[in-house]
Amino acid sequence: MNEHLNNISNTLSKVISDLHALPGHPTVLTHPDELELYSCDGLKLHTTTPGCVVLPATTTDIQNIVRICNRYKIPFTARGAGTSLSGGATSEGGVIIQLSRMNQIVEIDYPNRCAIVQPGVVNAYLSLMTRPNGYHFAPDPSSQIVCTIGGNVAENAGGPHTLKYGVTLNHILGLTVVLPDGEILKLGGKFRYSTGMDLIPIMTGSEGTLGVVSEIIVNLEPLPKTARTFLLIFDEVAKATDMVSEILEAGIIPAALEMIDKLCIQAVESTIKAGYPISAEAVLLLELDGDPLTVESDSQKLRSIVASKLSEPMREAQNQTDRALLWKGRKHAAGSMGRLSPAYYTNDGVVPRHRLTETLSEIYRIGQYHQLRVANLCHAGDGNIHPLILYNPQKSGETQRSVDCSVQILKTCLDFGGSLTGEHGIGAEKKDLLPNMYSELYLYYAEEIRKIFNPHNLANPGKIFPESGGCGEFRSIIKRTVR
Ligand SMILES: Cc1cc2nc3c(=O)[nH]c(=O)nc-3n(C[C@H](O)[C@H](O)[C@H](O)COP(=O)(O)OP(=O)(O)OC[C@H]3O[C@@H](n4cnc5c(N)ncnc54)[C@H](O)[C@@H]3O)c2cc1C
Repeated sequence: MNEHLNNISNTLSKVISDLHALPGHPTVLTHPDELELYSCDGLKLHTTTPGCVVLPATTTDIQNIVRICNRYKIPFTARGAGTSLSGGATSEGGVIIQLSRMNQIVEIDYPNRCAIVQPGVVNAYLSLMTRPNGYHFAPDPSSQIVCTIGGNVAENAGGPHTLKYGVTLNHILGLTVVLPDGEILKLGGKFRYSTGMDLIPIMTGSEGTLGVVSEIIVNLEPLPKTARTFLLIFDEVAKATDMVSEILEAGIIPAALEMIDKLCIQAVESTIKAGYPISAEAVLLLELDGDPLTVESDSQKLRSIVASKLSEPMREAQNQTDRALLWKGRKHAAGSMGRLSPAYYTNDGVVPRHRLTETLSEIYRIGQYHQLRVANLCHAGDGNIHPLILYNPQKSGETQRSVDCSVQILKTCLDFGGSLTGEHGIGAEKKDLLPNMYSELYLYYAEEIRKIFNPHNLANPGKIFPESGGCGEFRSIIKRTVR
C-alpha cells in the first residue's frame, strides 16, 4: 500500500499541472487546509487526505479530468455533498472530483413527468422547484436539504417515504456516466422501456466504483392529493415495533412509518421541539397519503388497530405547520444527538420487519455490554434500522468500543436474516464485512463487473469490495484510521 501511495504522490504534480491546463481551467484545490475539508464524509471514523480536489462544470470537464487520471493511472473519487455515512466519498492521495458546481436543473419536462439534472443538484431543491406545478422528486433521505442527486444515485438512497415510493433506483429513467477510461455511456431516456439487459440498476448503488454520473433523468412524482401525519405514542419500544407489522398486515400501506426511541426524542425535544412527548419510550411517525377517501378510511382503520396499544391518544397534525414540525423532528433527530453526546456513530442495517422487536431488544443489550448508550431511529416500515451509538472520543477506549458495538449490531442484523445496509452503502466502512453477507460466488461476479467498467481500479478504489475477509480485518482498518 505504501509503495502504491508513493507512486501516486510522484505523479500527482504532473496530474495537477495537466488539470490546471485543461480548457475552461477548472478550479483545482491543493492547499493542505483545503484538502483537510475533503478528508472525510459523514463517517468521521474514516479519514484520509486526497492529493487534490478538482471542480468540473460540465460532462466534458469530467471526461477530461478522468482521462488525465487514466493517463497517469491515478485514482479518482466523485463527491457530491459528502454526507455519505460509510466512508465512500474519500480518496487516499488521489483526485476528488467535486461535483457541486454541476448544480443545474437542465430541463423540467412536465408532459413526460421527468427532469434532467446535473449530479450536484441538491435533492430537496428539485422538489422545491417542481412543487408549485404539483410534482416532486420522491426519494427523501433525511439529509435531503444538502445531499445531491448524484450522491443519491451512487448510494441508491432511500428515506422515510421509501415504504410506499421506493428507493432512488425506482425514480431513475436515465443516466449519463463518464466511464473510468473517459468514454461516455448513456443509459435510458425520458421514458421507461425494457429492451435487453438494463445497466441502470448496476450503476445505481455502485458508489462511484464504475464511473462518474454526470447527468440524470429522474421521474417526477405527482404530489399526493392529501397527506395526513399521525404520532403514535408508546410506553414500550416493543409495543411500537410490534405495531409496525400489525399496521401493514391490516392492509394499510403508509407513505412513511418511522420509529423514534426515547433517547432520540430527548435529543429532538432539546433542539427542535417537535412536540414528541419526552415521557414516551418510543413514538411512531406515520403518514398516509393519496386519495382523500382512501386516506380517511385507512385512518379510521388505523385508529381502531392502535387504540388499545397506545399510552396516549393518537395525535394528528392539524395543519401544514404541525406536519412540517413533526417531520422536522424526525429529519433532524440524528443531528440533534450533539445535545446528548460529543460524538455518535450512525449505523445502518436491515432486518425483516417481523423481527424488529427482537432486533431492537438485542441492540439495547449490545449497547449495555459495551457500556455505550444506543439511540434508535428506524425507517420501521422497511425494517431499516439506524442505531446511533453515542461515544466520547476523548475517553480512552470508547471509540474502539463504538466500532465493536457497531460490528456486533450489524452481525445481529445478518443473524436475523437481514442486511449490512439499507441505504448508506458499504463504502470503506463495511467492505470487509461483506463476505459475512454474500457468497464467494456473488463477490466474484460483483468484482468481475467492476473490472469490466473499471479495469485499473481507478474509480473510487478501496470502497465496497473486500480486500480480505472477516470482521477482524474491518476492526483493524477502522482502528488504524481513527485519529
Ligand atoms: C444526517 C444524515 C441523514 C441521512 N439520512 C439518509 C437517509 O434517510 N437515507 C439515505 O439513503 N441516506 C441518508 N444519509 C446518507 C447520505 O446523505 C446519502 O447516502 C446521500 O445519498 C449521499 O449524497 P451526497 O451528495 O452527500 O454524496 P457523497 O457523500 O458526496 O458521496 C456518496 C458516494 O457516492 C459517490 N458519488 C457521489 N456523487 C457521484 C457521482 N456523480 N457519480 C458517481 N459517484 C458519485 C461518492 O464517490 C461516494 O461513494 C444521511 C446522511 C446524514 C449525514
